[in-house]
Amino acid sequence: MKRKTSVFWILFSCSALCFVSLTGIFFRIQQTTPTLAEYSAEPVVIIDAGHGGMDGGAIGIDGQIEKEINLSIALKLNTMLQAYGFQTILTRNSDVSIHSADAKTVRQQKTSDLKNRLKLLEDTESGILISIHQNQYSKSSAHGTQVFYGRNCAQSKELAEMLQKTITGYLQPDNTREIKQATKDIYILYQATKPAVMVECGFLSNREEAARLTDEEYQDQIAFSICMALMNCLADRS
Ligand SMILES: [Zn+2]
Repeated sequence: MKRKTSVFWILFSCSALCFVSLTGIFFRIQQTTPTLAEYSAEPVVIIDAGHGGMDGGAIGIDGQIEKEINLSIALKLNTMLQAYGFQTILTRNSDVSIHSADAKTVRQQKTSDLKNRLKLLEDTESGILISIHQNQYSKSSAHGTQVFYGRNCAQSKELAEMLQKTITGYLQPDNTREIKQATKDIYILYQATKPAVMVECGFLSNREEAARLTDEEYQDQIAFSICMALMNCLADRS
């Protein structure tokens, strides 16, 4: 019996030690994950209206053009963020591609355009990128906002979570989509070393959602939700 008791106490002590150390590691990880509020006291928000110029992006079920919706939401977001005192930069404020002059073919221009958007983020001190896009899927039933985040910077995920929560809470209570880390297909987010997210506001392949996405009032609500989410993340900055 005595031997059994001591084996029990040895096992119990080992488990307790493991628990304490794991909890310690967990809390240290929690504490050392940098937050967006700690990132910069004066962040510069780079608002990226996806596509533009020869690249129209997705085409909606009723002919909606993604690049136009992206720009419209981006301009609204820019106005709101500036009204709240944020410094902002738009990657484009009209229907253009921002490729370099030496890019000749359409393929070269698309690659150059993406590289220049990424460069703008990387060259901007305290830059935070919010890229605006619209989604498309073969099944027309797919709908709802989904936020993607860059893999190289912890704050990207924090911002993506807040965006997804704010947009769905305010506008899409039935949306159960979850945020996703960007794969290499999403070039800017995959390469970015600074906070970077992409908001796929909705699906242009869904008739009802495509109609809403071209509605000025709904675009205002999307822009406002993005603005609120960012302000929430940055509220505690010193
Ligand atoms: Zn797009």
